[in-house]
Amino acid sequence: LRELPEIYTAFFLHPDLDISPSETFPDADPSVFHKRYLKKMRDLGEGHFGKVTLYLYDPSNDGTGERVAVKALKQENGHVPEGWMKEIEILKSLYHSNIVKYKGCCTELGGQVVQLIMEYLPLGSLREYLPKRKLCVPQCLMFAQQICQGMEYLHSKRYVHRDLAARNVLVENDSLVKIGDFGLTKYIPEGEIYYRVREDGDSPVFWYAIECLKENKFSFPTDIWSFGVTLYEILTRCDHRQSPPTKFFEMMETPHGQMTMLILIKLLEKRLRLPCPKECPHEVKTLMEQCWDEDPAKRPTFGFLIEKFEAIRR
Ligand code: ADP
Ligand code: MG
Repeated sequence: LRELPEIYTAFFLHPDLDISPSETFPDADPSVFHKRYLKKMRDLGEGHFGKVTLYLYDPSNDGTGERVAVKALKQENGHVPEGWMKEIEILKSLYHSNIVKYKGCCTELGGQVVQLIMEYLPLGSLREYLPKRKLCVPQCLMFAQQICQGMEYLHSKRYVHRDLAARNVLVENDSLVKIGDFGLTKYIPEGEIYYRVREDGDSPVFWYAIECLKENKFSFPTDIWSFGVTLYEILTRCDHRQSPPTKFFEMMETPHGQMTMLILIKLLEKRLRLPCPKECPHEVKTLMEQCWDEDPAKRPTFGFLIEKFEAIRR
């Protein structure tokens, strides 16, 4: 197809003409999803960059298809940004029981708008799930350990997630969570220890380690810091009155405005941290504090945290 003049390519790939090569053999490539078989069911959520929608993928058109979560970029101004293709490539390369499964892509008209197709997790993110359930502490710790397992795998592939937070952890059922949203994930080359971001962008500052705020440096220990904040969110059951932004704003005397970052850095330098959640076991409080050590080298690894959670839960 690539050899044909553009006019033919457009003709072959036009969604209304039933002759695209992969459609002649619908089972040929299970990771190719055709837009016209995707039936919208409902919106699932959106973050800074993407919008996620639940679709029924139903090629036989009899309602027997499978439910899939489809992520699309929010602002589609014609071209596909490089970071978006990276997110797809990264998710495609990951296989772990605590990481959301990649299913495929949906490409429109000769490779223009690409949507990411992933498995649908019926209970949404921890942010939607936790406030509704009365989860006991052992169950919270089980989720925390599963997040560590997914993260240990991610780090073993030399990726830093950079956006670990309850909103980016998805719930399959009452005993299984998976990490989703690899939109900010970056590869750290062998021999290097951190990734430095150039663009300042919209960053989840209240989940960020002190060195991220000061120097834009991201490393494996910076994910550990964000995990500490995620653990805090889990133990406060994602109660918005105790959310990390709410709590940090309470600690600031002059809230909001452009100075937020600088004040936050000052707070953290004075060793101020999020409060200990109610009913949080003492050993877990200690782990949380270790995750928030100002020295990245002193923070635990995900492997260490997994062992600790196993011991505490026993
Ligand atoms: P963004 O990159 O814009 O932050 P996310 O990938 O985090 O987008 O998705 C935004 C929201 O959509 C999530 O917080 C969650 O509520 C919902 N969501 C994302 N992926 C799925 C999925 N596979 N199944 C169910 N809900 C999902
Ligand atoms: Mg997100």
